[in-house]
Amino acid sequence: MGRAEGYVTAEINANIDATLLAWNGLLEDMAADGVYPGVDQVTRTAVASGLRPPGVNARTQNAATDSTHLTGEGGDVQDQAERDIMRWCLRNLAKVAARGLYLEHPQWTSRRDPKTGKRDPWVHGQTRRPRSGLRVYRPSIDPPSAPPLPEQAENGVAIYDYVPQEGEDAATDESSAVA
Ligand SMILES: [Zn+2]
Repeated sequence: MGRAEGYVTAEINANIDATLLAWNGLLEDMAADGVYPGVDQVTRTAVASGLRPPGVNARTQNAATDSTHLTGEGGDVQDQAERDIMRWCLRNLAKVAARGLYLEHPQWTSRRDPKTGKRDPWVHGQTRRPRSGLRVYRPSIDPPSAPPLPEQAENGVAIYDYVPQEGEDAATDESSAVA
């Protein structure tokens, strides 16, 4: 984070604190149910992506120019291969809401590693309310990069079927629609 010096303002620090508080709370909630995050291959921790200063964000594949990662309002937690965390979140949306987090849609938060062919799923949670106001929102107008999870059907389609209008996707967060 050394390169972030001069970039991290008091406001960004406050955002980071709020996002960490929300995420740590949610991780405690799921741990109580025996559900734990995976380990990111790059960071070797459960955090797949936290604060991204502008230079880092610009080098991040498909990241939105106004990503919540830039402001400390969004963070990615590594999911398990079977998407334990995302599926727990979809079954416990009231707890996600109680922690003040909004999530990117599961079908836009799993990309396939071109080398191994394995999927690399994560959960993007942010404290900034998306324009749609939806708890689980589509971050992109691009097609989904992963098949639906069983919980999507069980919870009905209403909260998942919001499609951002042209140009609006950048106002929510990064696009993850990587084939
Ligand atoms: Zn993210």
